[in-house]
Parts: sequence; C-alpha cells; structure tokens
Amino acid sequence: MNFEPSRSFAINKLNNFIEKNLIEYSKLRNFDYGPDQRTNISCLSPYVSHGIISEKEIISKCLKKYSFIKNEKFIQEILWRIYWKGWLELRPIVWSDYLEDLKKIKENFKNNQNYLDAIKGKTNIECFDCWVNELKNHNYLHNHARMWFASIWIFTLGLPWQLGAGFFMKYLFDGDSASNTLGWRWVAGVQTKGKNYVASDWNIKKFTNNRFDNIKLNENPVPVVDDRNYSILNNNFLNANLSDSKNLLIFENNLFFEQSNFNDQSFKNIYFVFNGNETRQIKLDEKVLNFKKSLIKDQIQNLKNKSLNCKMINVQDLKNMKENLLALYPSVGENLDYINSNNLKNISFLYRKIDQYSWKYCNKGFFNFKNYIPKMIQELI
Ligand SMILES: Cc1cc2nc3c(=O)[nH]c(=O)nc-3n(C[C@H](O)[C@H](O)[C@H](O)COP(=O)(O)OP(=O)(O)OC[C@H]3O[C@@H](n4cnc5c(N)ncnc54)[C@H](O)[C@@H]3O)c2cc1C
Repeated sequence: MNFEPSRSFAINKLNNFIEKNLIEYSKLRNFDYGPDQRTNISCLSPYVSHGIISEKEIISKCLKKYSFIKNEKFIQEILWRIYWKGWLELRPIVWSDYLEDLKKIKENFKNNQNYLDAIKGKTNIECFDCWVNELKNHNYLHNHARMWFASIWIFTLGLPWQLGAGFFMKYLFDGDSASNTLGWRWVAGVQTKGKNYVASDWNIKKFTNNRFDNIKLNENPVPVVDDRNYSILNNNFLNANLSDSKNLLIFENNLFFEQSNFNDQSFKNIYFVFNGNETRQIKLDEKVLNFKKSLIKDQIQNLKNKSLNCKMINVQDLKNMKENLLALYPSVGENLDYINSNNLKNISFLYRKIDQYSWKYCNKGFFNFKNYIPKMIQELI
C-alpha cells in the first residue's frame, strides 16, 4: 500500500477505482484482505481528509460512470465524513471534553502494562498485534479493522476509548478529529447511547478471508457509559465578507484551493498553514507530519505554476499577523483550537457550500441524514 503525497497520485487512484472496482464496492467493501490487497476499497481517505480531493468531485465522477442506485452505497460512505463533521460542528464540546479526558487518562495510564503492551502490538491477540504493526507501518487501516481494533481495545483489553482514539490519530494518514473521535465513541457505545460494536471471532475470521482464526475475545461486554449530554449549537456557518481581506489562510483540511468555492477570488497572498507537534494536543508520528507537509508543498507548487502568490507558514506565525485574514474554515479540531485559544479575532471564515448545506441535517442520526442525500446531490453536485 502506497500513499504518495500528491494530487496527481490521488486522482489516478480515484480514476482507477471508479474504472475497475467501484461496481463491486458494496459487495466486497467489508473484506479486509490485508495491506497488499486493497482494490476492493478506494483508500482515498488520506486525500479526502486533507481536501486534496473533495467529496463533490468523487461523487460527480462516480455518477458519470454509473447511476445513483449503482453508486448508492459508495456515495453514502463518502458522505459519512461530512455527517460526522457536521455532527461535531453542532456539538464542539464533545471534542474539547475528549481532549480534556485524554490528558487525564494518559497520565493515569502511562505505566499501565495492558496499555503499553497494546501500543507495542504485544497482546498475544494475533490479529490485534498485526493491526498495530500495520497502522505503524502503513499509516492506514481498513474500516472493518478499525472497528474490530477499537472493540478489542475497549472490551477485551479493557482500555479507555479515548486512549485508543489518540493512538489512531498519532499514526493515521487520514487522522480526522470528527471521523476518528466519533468512530471510537460509536464503537464504545457512547455515540448511540447503549449500543456498542462488539467484534467477534467468526466475523473477523470471515471478513479477513480466514487470515485469523480462533480469536479469544470478550463477546458479551456492556457498553461504556457516559452521562454527559451535549446540546446542539445554533450556528448558520455564514461566510465572512470577501472584501475583508485579500489574504487567505488554508489549513490542512482544504488543501486543493482550486476546488474551493473561492478559487475565482483574486487573493494577493495564499498562506498554507502547517501545524507541527509543538502546537498540537495530540502529537503525531513524524511520518504523518511529513505526509501533511509534502501535500502542502505539492499544492504550493501547483499554485505557483499558475502564478499565484503562496507560501507555507507555521501555525505559530498567525499570532504575528495583525491584518484581517480570511480562512477556509479549518473545522473543529487542532487548528481551530489554536485560533480560539490565542484569541485570533482577525481571522474570519469561509465555508464550503456542501458543508453549509448539509451540516444542518446532522442534528440527528445518520439514518435521518441519509434521507437528504438525493436532495444534496441535486442541489450541489
Ligand atoms: C474507530 C474508527 C476510527 C476512524 N477514524 C477515521 C479517521 O481518523 N479518519 C478518517 O478519514 N476516517 C476514519 N474512520 C472511518 C473509515 O474507517 C475510513 O474513512 C475508511 O476506512 C477509509 O478507507 P477508504 O478510503 O478505503 O474508504 P472507502 O470504503 O473506500 O470509502 C470511501 C470514502 O468514504 C469515507 N468514509 C468511508 N467510511 C467512513 C466512515 N465510517 N466515517 C467517515 N468517512 C467514511 C472516507 O472519506 C473514504 O475515503 C474511522 C472509523 C472507525 C470505526
């Protein structure tokens, strides 16, 4: 498995997937055949999570190839990301509570042998140890493996979900505050209260194509309990006035500027903001930071070829920039935290149309959100 940090690589991957594998996606997507056999899924998440390819671009290309009905499952999966994002945007305290919990739990578990064995891949649960190594070596796991992994972490190894989510964030190329935190909350049974995801021997055996067998797991656990209730914020996600500034900030979630809804504006300067470990609450693996940096460099080169004025800055530089700045909205996560905790009031936000339109449907569950998909496609794609 190979994730080259460039837009051209990502586009090739997408085109290949649509041509050869999309048609069988809904039938085969749950199978994890191992890191050398990933054609049954798209492996696009490291690019979509960085805005190198957008959900809109993917869906529109798929619909040129097949009808909506034939594409339905894949489109739903693509839109899960927007749903999770919107869900967290409406309840940002879930993210800040998660970070607070993680800080305390990390301190309490720093010498816990179960935890230390788990992150070294030395639990003697063969599949789990294998996924730990795969995560560290390839910076990616199949969706089903992420579910099994999280379930074993929480219910068989008895470790807090927050620590597992932090471990994923450290190593995943697609590490994303919403999909990751809410994915772990969902497995634990705190996202849909009382409904946990339980990994089982037969399911792992079947969907890994018999690569693992005779796995001793706790298959009757009770869900994790979290009594906190989060009320929904009333936020319209309205764009700042475009005449406020001619300088644009781009964070790591929206890197392909030409696909933003603002690419027709004549910005004097475009700054790509790199956020390193000094300023992150969850420290990332060096390979993940390098992946982000290389994607930024690829985009800078791309814009320079079109004679646009752009450069990479460090997130800490923002404190010294006193002029008004516009920014493609970084979403709830580490970059927005930096802006808020440093009270950088001179930065105002521009939102993607697809987010403005769809986040209002994220107040309830995904099954409700799903009903609006045809409408979203009609209006936006
Ligand atoms: C515990 C847990 C943690 C996760 N952490 C992350 C994370 O940090 N970052 C991340 O991008 N995804 C995360 N996911 C979601 C999902 O596992 C990955 O997006 C998916 O495995 C990416 O592989 P793919 O591109 O081949 O997906 P495909 O099956 O080819 O799907 C196509 C695209 O749809 C989107 N998608 C598919 N499933 C999901 C989903 N469940 N949630 C959100 N988007 C989805 C992704 O953009 C993906 O690239 C997590 C899931 C779980 C259960």
